[in-house]
Amino acid sequence: MNKIALITGISGQDGAYLAKFLLSKNYKVIGGERRSASGSLWRLNELGIEKDIEIVDFELSEFTNIYRVIEKYKPDEIYNLAAQSFVAASFEMPIMTSDVTGLGVSRILEAVKNINPSIKFYQASSSEMFGKVSESPQNEKTIFYPRSPYGVAKLFGHWITINYREAYNIFACSGISFNHESPLRGNQFVTKKITHGLSKVKLGILDYIELGNLDSKRDWGYARDYVEAMYLMLQQKKPDDFIIATGKNYSVRDFIEETCAQLKIQLEWTGEKENELGIDVHSGKEIIKINPKFYRPSEVDLLLGDAKKAKNILNWQPKTNFKKLVQIMVESDYSKLKSI
Ligand code: NAP
Ligand code: GDP
Repeated sequence: MNKIALITGISGQDGAYLAKFLLSKNYKVIGGERRSASGSLWRLNELGIEKDIEIVDFELSEFTNIYRVIEKYKPDEIYNLAAQSFVAASFEMPIMTSDVTGLGVSRILEAVKNINPSIKFYQASSSEMFGKVSESPQNEKTIFYPRSPYGVAKLFGHWITINYREAYNIFACSGISFNHESPLRGNQFVTKKITHGLSKVKLGILDYIELGNLDSKRDWGYARDYVEAMYLMLQQKKPDDFIIATGKNYSVRDFIEETCAQLKIQLEWTGEKENELGIDVHSGKEIIKINPKFYRPSEVDLLLGDAKKAKNILNWQPKTNFKKLVQIMVESDYSKLKSI
């Protein structure tokens, strides 16, 4: 009998890569998609797996819907990847983010507890929970100090996962993933904004891109590598929590410079703070400008993960370094834009 996995957030970046990976392991994949007028599964399409997945209506804010889906499809494993996942939006929509990203986790766990407590559960936790970091690198024992409604909501999801494991013996794991990117990353996230925007600049379709804080540092990995760690967590003898990270971090500025190098744009920085500009040396054009509207009310300056535990217990480690990640994203964006 094939194992059945329910992936919530199937239309998102990780949902697509995880579905592809689980299909390769012969799982039957049920994909939870929230209802929308324009519902798009373009990521599944791009990976060529849209027809291999059974799509079901799934809404994190609606307990009765979650209950019925789990009761009907009887999954062996649930991967909760659904969330309001964008930090900047969480400042504009803190209540919805708390409800969906935070309480949504309780709704699933409560349904699991009542329907079948032997269902294995994966919660997509986030390095944003470390926020104003107390030590570097961050590991599973580092104190949390979230800096956004998103980070606070994820922290609730993390602890409620641990609580259901301890209180009801549910096989519930929390993967504390650091930022992970890919050609399927949402357009608002800074990496994709840079690779897509600067590819357009290179092709002469766009004059410049506008960004916020260039000095924050992130530990960026490749999403395709990270979904394998999610699967591995649910295949262990006992449930636990793991950091998933590369152990190297770079600034937003570094990401821009690497993108320009890949696109063969010679870049020069001038000015400071809001007046800083990225100039294309050959054309003399201003191709990067700062717009303070992209600053966050409270920022996470630095994230750097220590994934030793995942290496020792899951035998997981990232396969893709920073340079390669930027290359994969730039090549994808540039070639797609060029062929339009
Ligand atoms: P993503 O691309 O933004 O996908 C989020 C998914 O959640 C989408 O399918 C979205 O549906 C769905 N969703 C949003 N609100 C929902 C609701 N009310 N009910 C049901 N589904 C809802 O995020 P991702 O990058 O794949 O990340 C996957 C998970 O890992 C998220 O929980 C994220 O917070 C977490 N995480 C991500 C990273 C990272 O760097 N990528 C790092 C740490 C943790 P629509 O398509 O309809 O919007
Ligand atoms: P996050 O780590 O989940 O918030 O991922 P993002 O990709 O949204 O942001 C990463 C970092 O890039 C944060 O420190 C942002 O403040 C910074 N950043 C700078 N300019 C931008 C921008 O224009 N958009 C986004 N999304 N982030 C930006």
